[in-house]
Amino acid sequence: MIEFIDVSKTYTNGVKAIKKLNIQIQQGEFVYVVRASGAGKSTFIKMIYREEKVTEGKIFIDGQAISAIKNKKIPLFRRKIGVVFQDYKLIPTLTVYENVAFALEVIEEIPANIRRKVMDELELVKLKHKARFLPSELSGGEQQRVSIARSIVNRPKILIADEPTGNLDPNTTWEIMEILEEINNSGTTIVMATHNQEIVNTIKRRVITFEEGSIVRDQLRGGYDLENKYR
Ligand code: ADP
Repeated sequence: MIEFIDVSKTYTNGVKAIKKLNIQIQQGEFVYVVRASGAGKSTFIKMIYREEKVTEGKIFIDGQAISAIKNKKIPLFRRKIGVVFQDYKLIPTLTVYENVAFALEVIEEIPANIRRKVMDELELVKLKHKARFLPSELSGGEQQRVSIARSIVNRPKILIADEPTGNLDPNTTWEIMEILEEINNSGTTIVMATHNQEIVNTIKRRVITFEEGSIVRDQLRGGYDLENKYR
């Protein structure tokens, strides 16, 4: 479970990005985080994987108070969480296989397991046949599929996706959504920031709407609220 209790975040320049936020996300949920730029979505997401620290309040991930985690323990904590970015963040000099394997090598997985795990994930994202390709030899959608494979190869409990389809065309966007749904069906919690109204209105899941650092709506099977743009 992800739990925020009275969480506020003020950046050093004085911007209050998150204000007194309270929210619970249960294991296995699929949650969209929506609304205009600057509303605090990325800050919210970064706080979940401890990329940003809270200024006030507490965050619990799986019962663990994450503000108390010492810096040197952060890599261990992050094994619980996979992250997918809008711009994929693959290592350009490594092949598809190596990019995914890298996530296992850093946690010192035994070599005999690495190949099986990497190939399983490449199968899930339908890229086994391109295992030896470099990222520059792939389309945007394929690169995002590699990044998803890398993010889940450690079997994290939570997958965070910050605008994962932001750079993709509509067809590719639906392919990525199918993969994310499949991952969610296996029990992984998904928290996805998005501007894509069509996705949110078609694949109906919980929708958390941010405005100026606060949650202004939280609906279990919501849609992207067009009429009440300002509530
Ligand atoms: P969103 O993801 O909804 O676009 P952000 O969480 O990125 O929103 O930003 C919320 C607010 O915090 C904005 O006013 C933004 O300018 C500010 N902000 C975000 N990151 C930083 C940072 N590293 N330093 C200072 N201000 C920031």
